[in-house]
Amino acid sequence: MRDHAHLLRPSDPEFDEVGEVRLTGLIAELIEGLGEDVAREGLLKSPERIERSLRFLTSGYTADVQTVVNGALFESEGSEMVVVKGIEFYSLCEHHMLPFFGTAHIAYVPDTTILGLSKFARVVDVFARRMQVQERMTTQIADALEHVLAPKGVAVVTEASHLCMMMRGVEKQGSTTRTSAMRGIFRDDGRTRQEFLDALR
Ligand code: ZN
Repeated sequence: MRDHAHLLRPSDPEFDEVGEVRLTGLIAELIEGLGEDVAREGLLKSPERIERSLRFLTSGYTADVQTVVNGALFESEGSEMVVVKGIEFYSLCEHHMLPFFGTAHIAYVPDTTILGLSKFARVVDVFARRMQVQERMTTQIADALEHVLAPKGVAVVTEASHLCMMMRGVEKQGSTTRTSAMRGIFRDDGRTRQEFLDALR
């Protein structure tokens, strides 16, 4: 354990009620290390707020796709392509822990199972709310949907702006990054893939 004990307030237990290590001391140490006065009025409650915020932004670590889709899997009545466009997501780049955010577009061609439409955003959040790289997030969403739906194919495209590029480094303000993952007939059949990509225009 690092020597940050002096930054823990006496009331802070080392662990919270669910057994997570309290981060407030570490966060206070970080703020102090950046040259700030953790004891000034405006920052007094910041370590707690930042911990709560970070727990939420990384809540994907304790989420589980199977639980998310439970109760929303139905028997398929056809095998037409389903496209869910423009699902907002917010993630944290694992290199700088700065946000990257944008939209995810998902298509699948069901075989025997369909998923309630509202659940796609929840599945995206399971993988977005972590420290991530966009390519892996996109792949994980596709793999998870392939696993729970066993569809004829699934495709995921994500488009994102990365604050680590916008606020620092190359400072390319306008650039967005697009990644995709194609499975089953979206990978094997160019027409099916094109039908999805056309739907994104
Ligand atoms: Zn980054």
